[in-house]
Amino acid sequence: MGKFPIADRALTRIWVCRKCKARNPAGAEKCRKCDYKGLRPKRARKKEVKGGK
Ligand SMILES: [Zn+2]
Repeated sequence: MGKFPIADRALTRIWVCRKCKARNPAGAEKCRKCDYKGLRPKRARKKEVKGGK
C-alpha cells in the first residue's frame, strides 16, 4: 500500500541551489538564477526511515 504524504512529494519537487539557495523545479540542470550546476533536492536527508514495516 502506498501511503506517501502529499507534502513530502511537494518538497521533493523542489531543488535548491547550493550557491544562491534559489528554488528550482525538479529536473533542472542548473540554477535559473545564477546558472550554478550544484542543485540538490530540498529534502536531502532521507535516512529518517523509522517504522517501515
Ligand atoms: Zn543559484
